[in-house]
Amino acid sequence: MKRTTSLFLLISILLVGVAGCTAAAAQPKPSPIPPTPTQYMQDAVSKLHWFGTSAILYNGSRVIYFDPISLDGPLPPADLILVTHSHSDHWSVADLKKIIAPKTTLIIGPIVANSYEADKTNLGIPATILSEGQTTDVNGVSIQAVPAYDTIGHVKGSGGVGFLVKVDGLTFYNSGGTAAYPEMANYKSDIAFIPVYSKDQAQAMAEIIPARVIIFEHTSYYAAQAVSDLFTKSIGAGKIFVAMEAGPIIP
Ligand SMILES: [Zn+2]
Repeated sequence: MKRTTSLFLLISILLVGVAGCTAAAAQPKPSPIPPTPTQYMQDAVSKLHWFGTSAILYNGSRVIYFDPISLDGPLPPADLILVTHSHSDHWSVADLKKIIAPKTTLIIGPIVANSYEADKTNLGIPATILSEGQTTDVNGVSIQAVPAYDTIGHVKGSGGVGFLVKVDGLTFYNSGGTAAYPEMANYKSDIAFIPVYSKDQAQAMAEIIPARVIIFEHTSYYAAQAVSDLFTKSIGAGKIFVAMEAGPIIP
């Protein structure tokens, strides 16, 4: 029940925040409340933490970090780390060292291989390179690498990837550095992480990806709020759009 309340509180904060930014003169009208997700989905969202950029922690039965940078707070050691590409706002040796433990499995897109090689002694664990279309299993967590590309710095076929991750009965889609492409329509997932490089790029992805919950990242909290509110009205279709507050883990 506490989690139900907190999700509604989150949604309420989003709506109040957007109204506060845009409706100085007119009386703000309440936005439609998105469909209530199941308790299971609320539990899943409550186990996510956003550190900023695309750095997200899933603290479920496994501790999984996606593109960890800017890590702060009491950090649980990683069972699994997934890095989509080698841009400095996705690959950070200093941050990786904060969460790597002897048990950690590191999985990287092919484009990260050179960066990993340069620091593998420093990192102290092996890395598995997962190319587009390849899948692997790590102690019951299934991972599939899928394409990630756009026209603003993530070149098609250059080895950047996204990941579909199955854990705890959930499928996460961590899209990486990418714009929408047709095969995204096949990435059925419970929770998708979408970068917001532009409103149009994010909207195209939000429309095509068949995820129940879409979390916006690689942007500010306020921009994520704005697109969440906009897409709730314009896309709807049972999808729930979420803006998370970035920052350190607060114990
Ligand atoms: Zn990038």
